[in-house]
Amino acid sequence: MDRWKDTMFLLDAAGALVAPERCAACDARVPFRTVFCSACAATLTSTSTEHRDGPQALHPLASLHAPFLYGGAISAAVTRFKYEGRSELARPLAHLLLRAGPQLTSLAIDCVVPVPLHPTRLVERGFNQAALLGRLLARRLGAAFEPRALTRIKATEAQATLSREGRLRNVRGAFEARQADWLANRRVLLVDDVATTGATLAEAAIAVHAAKAHIVHAVVLARA
Ligand SMILES: [Zn+2]
Repeated sequence: MDRWKDTMFLLDAAGALVAPERCAACDARVPFRTVFCSACAATLTSTSTEHRDGPQALHPLASLHAPFLYGGAISAAVTRFKYEGRSELARPLAHLLLRAGPQLTSLAIDCVVPVPLHPTRLVERGFNQAALLGRLLARRLGAAFEPRALTRIKATEAQATLSREGRLRNVRGAFEARQADWLANRRVLLVDDVATTGATLAEAAIAVHAAKAHIVHAVVLARA
């Protein structure tokens, strides 16, 4: 296991030496380990963790973490990552997820579960953007990565085209846990690229709770 981790580290380091660093939103050259150029970085709006306390206590998510509000360079980067086949952006974008706050490391997460795509959508796109982010994030958090823990049992319309009510209806009952014992009594972190109404994450969290998880948190790159 350690040898595997060492190998991955060396591959990471070698990749950084070979490929020049580029801005995730516009491809301008940037300094080592910098995700956005200064012009793009100026368009970002940082946000703080959204805790779901008090009257929201019954919400299936204990907390939602997002480093940015949706818009500007983060929307451009997500669009390139998701719809323009730029899967190599997973690495810098996963790094941004960790910026969602020191809280993320203090949650003592046992396993990271990406929000799954419906199999049809996965074939169309060729990769699940949430799984690429989740795999890197799990490694950095020292948590297990469980990309097969949840399955999408309902082919939903693209959320972006729907009203708020439409979105809630659209994803209801969309997810199912494959094997309860993968999630039982575990502290789970759901990962997705963006959250607008939060309806998709809430539905995924309901499925994780149905598998008897101890607690469910979520992290996204940007929220509305
Ligand atoms: Zn840029």
